[in-house]
Amino acid sequence: MSIPSRRHLPLLAGVVALAVWPLVFSSAYDLRVFTLAGIYAILVIGYQFIFGHAGALALTQGAFFGLGAYITGLLGAKLGWSALATLPLSIMGPMLLAVIIAAPVLRLETHYFALATLGIAQILLLVAIRWESVTGGANGLPGIPALTFLDVAVPGGLPMVLFVWSVVALAGLFAWQAMRGLYGRAFHVMRSNELLAASIGIDSARLRAVAFLLSAGFAGVAGALYAHTIRVVSPEVLEFHVMVACLSMAVIGGRTGVAGAILGAVVLVHLPEWFRGLQDYYLIAYGVALLAMIIVAPEGLAGLLGQAAGTTPSRRAGRIAGAVAPATGESRFRAEAKAAAPLLSVQAIGKRFGGIQALRDVSFDVRSGEIVGLIGPNGSGKTTLINIATGLYAADAGRILFDGRSLTGMRPAAIARLGIARTFQAVHLVEEMLAVDNVAVAVAARRPLRLGRALTRPLRDRAMQSARAEALAIMDRLGIVEAAWHRAGGLPHGTKRQLEIARALALSPQLVFLDEPAAGLNASEQRQLAGQLKSLAEGGLTLLVVEHNMPFLMSIADRMVCLDEGKRIAEGTPSEIRANPAVLGAYFGAASVTPGSRQ
Ligand code: ADP
Ligand code: MG
Repeated sequence: MSIPSRRHLPLLAGVVALAVWPLVFSSAYDLRVFTLAGIYAILVIGYQFIFGHAGALALTQGAFFGLGAYITGLLGAKLGWSALATLPLSIMGPMLLAVIIAAPVLRLETHYFALATLGIAQILLLVAIRWESVTGGANGLPGIPALTFLDVAVPGGLPMVLFVWSVVALAGLFAWQAMRGLYGRAFHVMRSNELLAASIGIDSARLRAVAFLLSAGFAGVAGALYAHTIRVVSPEVLEFHVMVACLSMAVIGGRTGVAGAILGAVVLVHLPEWFRGLQDYYLIAYGVALLAMIIVAPEGLAGLLGQAAGTTPSRRAGRIAGAVAPATGESRFRAEAKAAAPLLSVQAIGKRFGGIQALRDVSFDVRSGEIVGLIGPNGSGKTTLINIATGLYAADAGRILFDGRSLTGMRPAAIARLGIARTFQAVHLVEEMLAVDNVAVAVAARRPLRLGRALTRPLRDRAMQSARAEALAIMDRLGIVEAAWHRAGGLPHGTKRQLEIARALALSPQLVFLDEPAAGLNASEQRQLAGQLKSLAEGGLTLLVVEHNMPFLMSIADRMVCLDEGKRIAEGTPSEIRANPAVLGAYFGAASVTPGSRQ
């Protein structure tokens, strides 16, 4: 990648504009506004972790900001501490608060999460107003010393602008480095589809917690700098308008990109200046602008500019495809003979949804290297069984053993990491992500995803390259490598289904559940898929295949299990199943031998 490519033009232009701005608009007032814009940029870069990357509508960012400001204010004004001591404490204070509230709050569904985090902000505001002896109550705390850092005084004006914007640069670098590789893509998978994330072993709860902590820490930095800039802290810093401003900046600038955060902050901080003529109508104009952005440019200003500059994800197909490595995943596809001990043992599973008994006392085994077909009419409980085995649902009765170990109570991501992969009846892909990265994320998720590792990667991201190379090798084996550098959402249906299988294989699983893999495939695609599944099983992989397409399934299955109304009514070889009267009665029914109906 050549460095000053077209992709970087908007960035370069932005940097130049930002550098020139304070020199041109150099009145004390302008400089202060510009300092505030930088402070808000830090706040928003932090907020993007939880709101953008993790996709959770947290309303605590203003509270974290206020807390950071109060910590610096109190320790600076009352005890005369310098920024060297107060800045770290202003970071740690909000992070500690985030830790305390993370456990109960992060589990909540989005809207409850928003409400709960809003409540926390209100409590802090009350404390700041009521605890007069310490916080100065509604009047606030005056007399915060100017910033001194490493014994160098940073008075207001241009020095403060430079200091704050240096911190913006550092914060931006941190966020960019954390999120540009597979770690950021794991966040992308999580926010677009949590089920899917869990199915490839991504621990969403952990990612969200990390994002929440980072948000808090960045907000603390912003709050501290704010206190040093304004030199007074009052309950105003905890009021809701800080949160509203931060949220608006993230929406208007863009939810995930550093450039968007900076753009949003600069534009919104200056907006009141630019639209001063509107006076009372300002708020209405503001609301209209916000709505317009949400509708017209859901990816914010940064997204719009990116489109204008022709920024598309890089398509460096040839280079990496040339370096395709053999899939190391192969090693865990155990090639040993079909062992006697079952790999998967389903034991007396029962599951009820309200009035529907979806599964009733279902038992069967799957041995290593086997292809077992699971059939039954629509609604007979096939998908439910997969959902229980992969930890999405808890069974009411019975248990499932994998390699002799009970899966009961395990979370989906942990089950995936044991080596149990799945595909979904309705295709689940991250549509706007490159096909190859849909698979590469699953390769990466085999190891626990760590922020520290993401931050310490070299510029040339070898982890990403090797994950992509492995993804390409898997895709190549399934005959879909040409699709690698296209967005997943634009691929034909058959390729999408194959891509799901590729992603499942990227986990290096021992067992894969395939939920109607042939659905929607044409005859030649079905033949191809059947061949591929057979060769995977010959390589030692174990498959449980749910399918309505009998010719397809019977051509690959070693054994079949038939469910009807949640009960196991038959088990045997394909020819036994074909001749079984119970199966014929329940499943093949009156009219058709290959029922094509799907849910
Ligand atoms: P199959 O995959 O064999 O077509 P499912 O396992 O999807 O069947 O469904 C079995 C039964 O359980 C159906 O009656 C379905 O409506 C019901 N069911 C499945 N999942 C849920 C759920 N999450 N909530 C309520 N009912 C469900
Ligand atoms: Mg189903």
